[in-house]
Amino acid sequence: EWAAACTVRQVLLATPRSFCAGVERAIAVLDRTLAGADNAVYVHRPIAHDGHLLADLRRRGAVFVDDPAEIPDGAPTVFAAHGVPPAVRADALRRGLPVVDATCPLVARLHDEARRAAGRGDTVLLVGHAGHAETEGILGQDPDRITVVESAQDAERVEVTDPEGVSYLLQTTLALDDVRDVVAVLRRRFPALTGPAPDQVCYAATHRRAALRAVAAHADVVLVFGSADSSDSRRLVEVALRGGTPAYLVEDVGAVELRWLSGVRTVGMTAGVSAPPRLVDEAVVALSGLGARVREVGGAVTDRPSTARPDPADPPRISA
Ligand code: SF4
Repeated sequence: EWAAACTVRQVLLATPRSFCAGVERAIAVLDRTLAGADNAVYVHRPIAHDGHLLADLRRRGAVFVDDPAEIPDGAPTVFAAHGVPPAVRADALRRGLPVVDATCPLVARLHDEARRAAGRGDTVLLVGHAGHAETEGILGQDPDRITVVESAQDAERVEVTDPEGVSYLLQTTLALDDVRDVVAVLRRRFPALTGPAPDQVCYAATHRRAALRAVAAHADVVLVFGSADSSDSRRLVEVALRGGTPAYLVEDVGAVELRWLSGVRTVGMTAGVSAPPRLVDEAVVALSGLGARVREVGGAVTDRPSTARPDPADPPRISA
């Protein structure tokens, strides 16, 4: 069906795209843990947003739980890239669970920074989404002193103990253009505001956004591969639409509707930080098989903070 109707001559791939270094590393860690385990391996919250990947990991013995109380005594446990609140870590230690900690090193650094700022008495404003696994992990570092700020309106309203002692941190899966307005309001209200050092900011989402903008400027249509559950993937669609290019969020190549490609010569493609490369790869195989030329766009930047590089074969283990 595609072959008969396909007018696509060029595929532009946004680079970087798909998994960030932290998620890729956590999946590699889980992969190895599953390979060495006789029984189920428990994971605190889903490791990525991809139905096929999660189904495959479940088939191999992974059990994703929201509540650590669901983890049976003695069961191998993996903390995913988004990290866990200290209470979850302490509970695992108390129960003697064999834990492999795949928290992204950059997220772990944010935990340290949150504790440090709270320890010197600051009110810490965490710019991010309430309820997100990473946000909960950071919030848990000092729930009395850390407050989530989700929007510029929140930033206008938030109350602090001492305007001279206010810090902010950024949820890592947000791009800098998601948070600019919020931080501007905080700076106006609290001129003494302290922000994260450049090496405490993750640029994975920002760089994916920039690469997609470059792709969308030259594409007739953009396909963003990922899950509707992923706010990062939804934002990528918005970025393309805002630039005037039609864009669709699709779970996989099977969900691409032929009418979207009708008369189209250039297709742009990307995927969010929690979507596997496989999703884009399958679409590339389909379209290049029909004669489309494939070109990478972007790629001048890396989202791999040096701290996110440790060998996935040797993640930290915690044990009682
Ligand atoms: Fe991914 Fe960046 Fe978050 Fe690490 S800090 S998990 S690299 S988005």
